[in-house]
Formats: sequence, C-alpha cells, structure tokens
Amino acid sequence: MVATVDDLAQAGQSATRRRIPRTDALLADPRLAQATDRLGRPLVKAAIARAQQRARDAEIAPEQVADAAVAELPATAASLTPVLNATGVIVHTNLGRAPLSQAAIGALTAAAGTCDVEFDLDTGTRARQRGRGVLDALRGAVPGAQAAGVVNNNAAALVLAATALATGKEIVISRGELIEIGDRFRLPDLLTSTGARLREVGTTNRTTVSDYQQAVTEQTGFILKVHPSNYRIEGFTSGATVPELAGLGVPVVHDIGSGLLSPHPLLPDEPDAATSLRQGASLVTASGDKLLGGPQAGIILGEETLVRRLLRHPLARALRVDKLTLAALEATIAGPQPPVARALSVSPAALADRAERVVATLAAHAVPADVVATEAAVGGGGAPGVTLPSSAVALPEDLAIPLRAGPAVRGGQLPPVVGRVEKGRLLLDLRSVDPADDTRLIAAILAAAAPA
Ligand SMILES: *Cc1c(COP(=O)(O)O)cnc(C)c1O
Repeated sequence: MVATVDDLAQAGQSATRRRIPRTDALLADPRLAQATDRLGRPLVKAAIARAQQRARDAEIAPEQVADAAVAELPATAASLTPVLNATGVIVHTNLGRAPLSQAAIGALTAAAGTCDVEFDLDTGTRARQRGRGVLDALRGAVPGAQAAGVVNNNAAALVLAATALATGKEIVISRGELIEIGDRFRLPDLLTSTGARLREVGTTNRTTVSDYQQAVTEQTGFILKVHPSNYRIEGFTSGATVPELAGLGVPVVHDIGSGLLSPHPLLPDEPDAATSLRQGASLVTASGDKLLGGPQAGIILGEETLVRRLLRHPLARALRVDKLTLAALEATIAGPQPPVARALSVSPAALADRAERVVATLAAHAVPADVVATEAAVGGGGAPGVTLPSSAVALPEDLAIPLRAGPAVRGGQLPPVVGRVEKGRLLLDLRSVDPADDTRLIAAILAAAAPA
C-alpha cells in the first residue's frame, strides 16, 4: 500500500496534535496555577483551551501553548477592559464617562469590604443616615442647598422627582427641552412612565414666561427646566430663565445635566447647582459622572422639605446607590481635582509639549508620527458646541485597528487605545489622556507598530 501526500500530511498533523500539552499538565504550570487563585479555575481553563485551539489550527507550535495560555489570561475576573481614551472627547459615554480620581479609586477600594456605611462606630448602633459623608460633602460644596440626596443616576433623580411630586398631576415643560438623553431614552417617556402628565408649553425654539404662567394650575406638580446638554438651538430663540420661573408659585426643578456644583470659568454657558439654587430653583438634579468627574450617580440638591419628600418615597429604596458609589462620590467632591477637571483646564502649550515628547520617542523607534493641532470636546457630559484647543499624535491610519484590538491588547499588559480617524490619519488626542498614561500610550503604539 502506498501512502499519498495527503495521508502523510494528516499523519504529520496528528503527530503535532499529540504533542499539544493536555489541560492537566498546563494547569500544573506555576504561572497558570497561580492565576487559578487570582482568576478562578474556569477562566484559566478557558485561556488554556484558546491556546490549545491555536496550536490545533497550527497558528503556534505545541511547545508554545503554555506561554500562549499565559498571554491569553484576562487581567481580571471581569470582562470590562480598561481603555486609553485618546478620542479627544473628555467625557465619552461609550468609554465609561468620567475616569475616577486616584482618591476616588482609593476610597471605593477601601469601602469594598465591610465598612461602616450604616453603622455608628461610637455608639455601636445603626447610623442615623446612610451615606452621611457624601451628603455633608455635597452641602459643603453647595452651601445654598438645604438638603442633598444621591440616587443611581440623573434619570433616577428625575423619575423620583416626578413620582414624589407629580404622579397624577402635571409637569410643565418647554417643547424646546423634550430631549433624548441617549440610546433612544427620551425624557418625556421617562417622566410619563411615572404617571405624571406633561403639560408642554411654547415651541421648539421659543418659550416665554407667560407660556409657563398660563399653564400653571392647581394640577401642576412642578415646572421642569432641562439643560439641553447634548445639542444647541441657535438663531431665533428664547427661553425663560430660572429666576423668571421661580416667581410663578410652583416648585421649579432644574435638571442641569452635567453636575457642575459651581460655575466653571471655561464653560460660561453650562449651568451649575449653586447658581441655579441661588436663582430660586427648588430642586436641582444632575449626573455624578459627567463634568463633576465622579462615579455614576444622580445628585439631588435643594429645599429640605422637597428633598425629604423624594428620599422618603418608597421608590427611593429601589434607586439608592451602594457603598462603592457613596465612597467614590465623596472622595471626588472632597478630594483633589478629578481627571475630568484637569483635562478641561490643562493648557494647550502643555498638551503640545506632551505630544512633542511622544512623537520624539516614537521617532527614536522609527515609528512615523507628527504633532497636529486639534479641537477636543467636552462630550456627552455637557457644553455642546464648545471646543478646546488640543494636540494629537498623528499616526498612519492602519494602526487604528491594531491599537484598538491588536498585539498591544493581548494578555492585558497594555491597554487598547481608541483614537479618531481624520483625513486618512489616526489622531490620538492627548487632552482626554491622563499624563500619567503617556508611557503606556507609547508602549501600546510601539507594540501595535511592531511587525507581527
Ligand atoms: C445626561 C443627562 C441626563 C441623564 O443622566 P444620567 O446620569 O445618564 O441618567 C438627564 N438630563 C440631562 C440634561 C443630561 O445631560
């Protein structure tokens, strides 16, 4: 009998397959055994299975399977992957909005175990108020607020306000402020889901105080003023201000969106909680993870009686935040400037400097790159239309995919980098990158540019 070329190839293949190490043998590798303690057995076995499959597909040699399995190990037991945001959009909703400050990360890590979230260590009894520290920090930052509350997000704050103050009643709102807050979630739907009715006034571009005035009746729960945080209406426009609305005899709830607690010098058109309350708003609601730079949260500030009505409503229990959020939010407010605030105020010269240094390092490794002047944006977090002068490292466009998903990513040693492609080049905008991450950014670019 004569063996064909195919037979020989198959025999060779199965000989190679037999040399692929078995799972038990691989689990005994000290690196993988150690990973089992850190990540748990199923995730390590999954990494091993992927490496074995690569050997079966002849992508790697059987001798490389152990190393490949180690490289396949996830960085943590969760699948969320840290990413470097080089998009130039400071608060990027798809990339987790605000990155936390080290102070906030430290506080939430410390709170992760058992902690005194509802326990008074002096008396040894249940604490009077859950999350007291963050409420004190909020009132300290906004002295005009008689009371404060924290719920899951700004949408939750609005649902709670509508439920507690306007179920079976009317919320008076301008047609120019019936916004979609993202991913098909629309504010009007959110509000009416509570059983409140909307009393729309004015037109898309113009609403006057008398429009509101005529709509206010004994059916009114409150007037809602919403900051158009993700679009701008320009041209023939007018709207009623908080001081004007505050004179109409019903509570004014102001959804300021971004979470600025006091005015920001670079964002004069962005509303803030202190100003709004001073101007007569009864309640302010805002997000914790936009311009405030903290964890996802909904912040409620304002008159004591109204805040209490919201927080005593049964629904409040379903919207409450956990100890991790309480810890991170308090540290964001009480601690040093968070990354979002730093990214907003960093000087264009400092950004150009950093870009020059990154480009010089890349040039030393024969990676072609240039510094280009760009315009960064605040993002979904607020200030629509505002651009911030910035600098980017411009790279060949074909590096976009390997930087996002290529060798730099594998093994979790280096973070994926997300930039933006413009006019055939990949721009990595440094305004949205923490300066402490420049070294990792360079390492990721070098890994992505290296021949496979
Ligand atoms: C972002 C935003 C919301 C939604 O806030 P979440 O914290 O994402 O729930 C509501 N209103 C305005 C004006 C916003 O900008």
